[in-house]
Amino acid sequence: MTNVIGHLIGGKLVNDSTERTQDVFNPATGEVSCQVSLASKKTVEQAIKEAQAAFPGWRNTQPIKRARVMFRFKELLEQNAEHICKLIGQEHGKISHDAAGELQRGIENVEYACGAPELLKGEHSKNVGPNIDSWSEFQPLGVVAGITPFNFPAMVPMWMFPLAIVCGNCFILKPSERDPSSTLFIAKLLTEAGLPDGVMSVVNGDKEAVDALIESPLVKAISFVGSTPIAETIYAKASANGKRCQALGGAKNHAIIMPDADMDNAVNQLTGAAFGSSGERCMALSVAVTVGKQAGDTFVGKMTDAMQGLKVGDYDTATNDFGPVISKAHKEKVVGFINSAKQQGAKIIVDGTQISVKGFEDGYFVGATLIDDVTPEMDSYKAEIFGPVLQVIRVDTMEEAMQLINDHEYGNGTCIFTRDGEAARYFSDNIEVGMVGVNVPLPVPVAYHSFGGWKRSLFGDLHAYGPDGVRFYTKRKTVTQRWPSSGLREGVNFAFPS
Ligand code: NAD
Repeated sequence: MTNVIGHLIGGKLVNDSTERTQDVFNPATGEVSCQVSLASKKTVEQAIKEAQAAFPGWRNTQPIKRARVMFRFKELLEQNAEHICKLIGQEHGKISHDAAGELQRGIENVEYACGAPELLKGEHSKNVGPNIDSWSEFQPLGVVAGITPFNFPAMVPMWMFPLAIVCGNCFILKPSERDPSSTLFIAKLLTEAGLPDGVMSVVNGDKEAVDALIESPLVKAISFVGSTPIAETIYAKASANGKRCQALGGAKNHAIIMPDADMDNAVNQLTGAAFGSSGERCMALSVAVTVGKQAGDTFVGKMTDAMQGLKVGDYDTATNDFGPVISKAHKEKVVGFINSAKQQGAKIIVDGTQISVKGFEDGYFVGATLIDDVTPEMDSYKAEIFGPVLQVIRVDTMEEAMQLINDHEYGNGTCIFTRDGEAARYFSDNIEVGMVGVNVPLPVPVAYHSFGGWKRSLFGDLHAYGPDGVRFYTKRKTVTQRWPSSGLREGVNFAFPS
């Protein structure tokens, strides 16, 4: 009988046999590995109830004690790293050293959350008026929820819940239903680390569970990471329901290759950034904009050579470079974009559509693909492909390259490869993108900065994790207090206090 992945509510694993279920696949083999329960509204309401009950106690737990739970959690994550990476590999398909990198970036968010007492320090001003002092403090919101995508089942949830929890909130996570096992396992470790029951729950599911979270007046904030159409809908619905919301969406990340770039370095960097994790990263560099004919020709030539040695396969063969894409339907979508680029006049330099991996013939593999002479009108350029596909657009000047990026609907990440400091500075100053790299292809901010794109890559104001995360998961309260010297009485005053 197929194993059914349930939920974690009130510190216990629960499974409701009356709920709908969905198959979870091993994308390397195409086989069903387990099923996942799709939470009903009733199940979500139970999680909210448990969270609501746990909130008063957790809110009043000293920040240092909340942080101690995270210290223990970090140790458990490290002790169980191999198992977590295996679970990620089996359901997502990403190769084990890529999964280890993802987990490490997640752990770094736990480390940041361990600084809770420092992060939650308020602001104090003495003598704002006669005998009057004032301070601002940052109070938790209450029950908050996170909805996460399939492509980082360990890291993206850890962008959210460690910080939300150390800030004194109770957190309900709705992970992707396509690869739920590693996320649920991680949440169980947090319970083992000593988190009181109800402070963190996981409800697996789909739109029904998400709607139940958004519609509940008891849920005060929603963090969402996923595709842009869903992010936009979630943001609109959550806002209409009076909730604070940050909704991070899709991307189309460009790298400008300047004529003076160290071309071998640019090619090495871009190979990993374009094809790593099969291009299923919101920071994947999927467009190379080459400036000048020579840079274009050299880049395409060297990239073509570099791609010959790439190894595609299952997650636990250490020599593989990347694995399958998440599903059969997604493979068809990626192949469809490659074919449409060809039909619309682009040149397919390296074609990954016909790949077959020995021993894994039914897996959802797409080989690394390089497409030259792409233009902004092509469908493959406008959309986020989310596959191992690098497209090359050739332009004559850096201004043209920057205009192209600024005109694109997405503004998540970008990078310039150059040796010219002046060009790099002009680029980072003026580009309409939230995360910028200079000779750094995946400028994913570290845990003590914050992550977020511009334009249609993020709906909301505050970015994810880091300092913005602390602000997102807390509300400011400003207290103004007077302790008059003994015997001093203030008279009646009708003027506005100044
Ligand atoms: P997705 O939008 O399909 O799903 C994301 C989450 O939303 C999942 O938990 C899913 O169950 C839920 N969901 C899906 N449809 C829904 C609906 N109609 N109503 C309510 N909830 C719904 O995204 P995905 O395919 O899992 O992930 C890939 C996408 O995520 C890509 O577009 C990628 O760029 C984006 N992403 C963005 C970032 C970022 O930080 N900007 C990070 C990672 C991934």
